[in-house]
Amino acid sequence: MSGTFVGMPAFPKAAHEAVNNPTLRGNLRHATHTIRAKREKAVAEVSDWAELREAGKRIKDHTLRHLDDYLVQLEESVTAAGGIVHWAADAEEANRIVTELVKATGESEVVKVKSMATQEIGLNEALEEAGIRAYETDLAELIVQLGKDRPSHILVPAIHRNRGEIRDIFEREMSEWGRPAPQGLTDTPAELAEAARLHLREKFLRAKVGISGANFMVAETGTLVVVESEGNGRMCLTLPETLISVVGIEKIVPTWQDLEVFLQTLPRSSTAERMNPYTSTWTGTTDGDGPKTFHLVLLDNGRTDTLADEVGRQALRCIRCSACLNVCPVYERAGGHAYGSVYPGPIGAILSPQLRGTTSEIDASLPYASSLCGACYEVCPVAIDIPEVLVHLRERVVQGGEVTREGNKVVLKPAKGHAAERAAMRAARWAFARPGAVRAGQRLASRTRRLHPRRLPLPGPGKAWSETRDLPPVPAEPFRDWWQRTQGSAK
Ligand code: SF4
Repeated sequence: MSGTFVGMPAFPKAAHEAVNNPTLRGNLRHATHTIRAKREKAVAEVSDWAELREAGKRIKDHTLRHLDDYLVQLEESVTAAGGIVHWAADAEEANRIVTELVKATGESEVVKVKSMATQEIGLNEALEEAGIRAYETDLAELIVQLGKDRPSHILVPAIHRNRGEIRDIFEREMSEWGRPAPQGLTDTPAELAEAARLHLREKFLRAKVGISGANFMVAETGTLVVVESEGNGRMCLTLPETLISVVGIEKIVPTWQDLEVFLQTLPRSSTAERMNPYTSTWTGTTDGDGPKTFHLVLLDNGRTDTLADEVGRQALRCIRCSACLNVCPVYERAGGHAYGSVYPGPIGAILSPQLRGTTSEIDASLPYASSLCGACYEVCPVAIDIPEVLVHLRERVVQGGEVTREGNKVVLKPAKGHAAERAAMRAARWAFARPGAVRAGQRLASRTRRLHPRRLPLPGPGKAWSETRDLPPVPAEPFRDWWQRTQGSAK
């Protein structure tokens, strides 16, 4: 993951600051509610949305089940079309491959299409260490880069910034990176967009190397697909002489017919558009048209391990639409930075602990960064049951965190820690194995019910827990006794 997130504290601590920042909460509330309402309208226009959602889920599941075959097919198709395929097991290897490819061109700067995969591996930082400057060209990514900030949303990485803050960043930073902001820049959207356009245009025209990710890769033809709204992606994909695409191995769809489903569900779920303003596809290289050299770096970086987990693997269906972020009550209050990863919100809470493991404080806390309300599942266009995976990952964390693989099976390490919880479970096992003891305990609880405190008096987690919950009243007569008295036999 991006180096900028390394060493993040656990989610509750990181979220605390955001929750107490009224400007941030205001920005997030306004933005998520606006996108959420638009998405709802765009989805309601499609009469067969439920069928499209089911089709998307099935296509992804089928592809993931046969991923090894489709990856080989993709490699053959890309190679046949004149592209060069590289395989990267982890972030370090991917960064090394890309850095060497850029160095081989003799260039020291690249233009970038917005890409989650390159953020995941911290590519910009790796390039910088090698003396190569990477220019983000998506407007929101540009704001994040100029502001020396971190992305806080998958689709709208600068969602935590308002227009005034963006104007200040442009005025202060643009000259450091190239063409300065125009004199007297105001915070109107048209002026801000024009400032970015002028700043970026000279970079597009100068750059010899472009770096992208891809939303989809079509195995049957070796075609890569990028969908976007600004046109910056189209510039990066067509103007440079060399194009390097870094893509997660789960982004494959078998055929163009399969792609059709996602080209309907992705725009409506993400930007609430009927179709993306720019849908760019490219297949290898073509003489006299576009880049002369095309490299595809296929990235694993924890995806194979995720695939081996029968419950958790559904996270790999994700098409990064960010609909789950926009409906999440926790994301709306905590913001994206608290998730300590380029994947924030509900999908980040299940993806990061699987890609990175649950050994760090932040990753072990992410499965708990949810109220399990299920809104994320309802809106997900590929029907990822995020609450199910969250509960599954909580089990993993409680059982000792780490997962190992034995062949194709995922095996949890033996349980350790959480002594109080395990002692409570042992006591419950003892009691429930002895019905007489349970009956005696219930009668005692009924007789002494007026003495039960409504809150646990001692300071500590027990007190905090009971302060936010209502203890149900204990009945004057246990159910078993009532049943025996009224029905005549013990159950
Ligand atoms: S989990 Fe579903 S809703 Fe969330 S970003 Fe991925 S595809 Fe979209």
